[in-house]
Amino acid sequence: MLLWGAAYAAKLNTMTHVAYVALGSNLDDRRGHLDGAVAALREHDAITVRRVSSWIETEPVGGPAGQGQFLNGAVELETTLSPHELLAVMQAIEERFGRVRTVPHGPRTLDLDLLLYDASVINEPDLTIPHPRLHERRFVLAPLAEIAPAAQHPILNATIAELLARLDAGA
Ligand code: ADP
Ligand code: MG
Repeated sequence: MLLWGAAYAAKLNTMTHVAYVALGSNLDDRRGHLDGAVAALREHDAITVRRVSSWIETEPVGGPAGQGQFLNGAVELETTLSPHELLAVMQAIEERFGRVRTVPHGPRTLDLDLLLYDASVINEPDLTIPHPRLHERRFVLAPLAEIAPAAQHPILNATIAELLARLDAGA
């Protein structure tokens, strides 16, 4: 069983996975941060960026009063990285853009959230997939619906387009 597990893990590492990542910025050169994050993802050997949404202007949700508007988007990736490896790459990119973690939901130069990874469901202290607030956030669903309307939420059993329609209907 152990052997089978190791062989399976090795195989997973060479397989391609499809992941969706949300991007957000509300400080300084927001467009530059989002474009730069996509360029950094493209540069990674184990990542292929397949689709990029448009960048949309959104109101901040939560956090301190008076913070600036966000620019948000989403990308579709193909990767051989595991979910945790991908998260580590995303966090390194956030740091490259000078992200400082201060106030929860506060202003940030760059926020990258892992939304979906194949049909995986992961509940670990440092990583929850699907992203737990994905279905509640128009600033995530709207750009995601642009590039992946038919992508399936593995827990809610609805597509991204359906989740966006539900949110719009206030359901
Ligand atoms: P938020 O995006 O909710 O404003 P942060 O970007 O500061 O908050 O994320 C804080 C922590 O969230 C990270 O340290 C990371 O380990 C954890 N986390 C859990 N699940 C995810 C996910 N799906 N994508 C990104 N980060 C996640
Ligand atoms: Mg985040």
